[in-house]
Amino acid sequence: MGVFDSVADEGHEQVLYGYDKVSGLKTIIAIHSTALGPALGGTRFFPYQSEEEAIQDVLRLSKGMTYKAAAAGLDLGGGKAVIIGNPREDKSERLFRAYGRIVDSLQGRYITAEDVGTTTIDMDTVRSETRWALGNSVALGGSGDPSPVTARGLYAACRAVAHKLWGDPDITGRRFAVQGVGKVGSAFVQLLVEARAEVIVSDAYEPAVQSAVENYGVKPVEQDEIHRVDCDFFSPCALGAGLNQTTIPELNCQAIVGSANNQLATDEDASRIAARGILYAPDFVVNAGGLINVYDELHGYSKTRALHRVDAIYDATLRILDTAEEHDMNPNEAAVKVADDRIRDIGDLRRFRRSGDDRA
Ligand code: NAD
Repeated sequence: MGVFDSVADEGHEQVLYGYDKVSGLKTIIAIHSTALGPALGGTRFFPYQSEEEAIQDVLRLSKGMTYKAAAAGLDLGGGKAVIIGNPREDKSERLFRAYGRIVDSLQGRYITAEDVGTTTIDMDTVRSETRWALGNSVALGGSGDPSPVTARGLYAACRAVAHKLWGDPDITGRRFAVQGVGKVGSAFVQLLVEARAEVIVSDAYEPAVQSAVENYGVKPVEQDEIHRVDCDFFSPCALGAGLNQTTIPELNCQAIVGSANNQLATDEDASRIAARGILYAPDFVVNAGGLINVYDELHGYSKTRALHRVDAIYDATLRILDTAEEHDMNPNEAAVKVADDRIRDIGDLRRFRRSGDDRA
């Protein structure tokens, strides 16, 4: 399939290719939608095997950002960028500054931030060429590492699910199986332990398991056992596509709430989970804490305000679970509906430009 076919298929507004011969920068920026606001999404630095693979990834990820922002009630559209290369070998000041210039040329239609393979420090370098780079260091007035804030959003979502399932948001004594105790997973485990929940963990990286066990006194299980653990909440906080035809029949939980992006291998997996009587809280709703946190930088970062908005993931989750019940849909379909409805209901208002509106 050609690029224009892919773009037309998913309704993207714009795709920009950027190249800098000196630094070796090869970047693709995809703007899926600016209906609700500027297209915000991180920069993924990844050694894609082909340009085809990179374009498919950036198109998929940018569309996901449109839904994440819309469902979180933010005045943002969806976009994403990829840089083709090895983040361990190919980073340089020149490369990120050249990238910053390309981002700047979009004049705020696309706003970038960190993602897999990029860090707060990289964003500080991009920022030296454009004001449209967020996720900057705290020392520079930015919001820093989003992971603890993402964990806080997950915690709020768990309380909403507990309220829905058992009529009480308290998670004291509830049993959690957390898959992946990296930056988000470990911060989430800390919140759970502080709330006196029971926690079982796994990770592909043994030192991460060790540190969770030592720091929080949680119980470890083998990597391929975690989704089978008898628990109230299964929490995928590692990679995507972990909920699939093979794992879903083996789940032994009441609910799924986790930070991983694209947890469902296919859309049909949401129906498979529902058919098993398990409540799935859609990933792009419950993991929006990091996005909400960087979004706040647009208004001069206030941690208090950002956390206040992140805590509203409780209400956003409940609303989606209620919508699912009301329309006899699975929660994933309900989350897409809530996002689509918002884009349809208020998206066209942006044709009236406000004074001082200098963004897309
Ligand atoms: P991370 O790289 O710090 O942690 C991921 C952990 O998962 C690592 O410790 C890794 O060893 C482990 N892992 C990988 N494969 C595994 C497997 N098969 N079984 C068990 N563990 C495995 O990443 P992170 O920042 O904590 O993000 C976790 C997930 O949440 C990712 O999918 C990310 O895209 C998503 N997410 C993160 C944020 C954020 O604020 N960091 C925001 C939204 C979504």
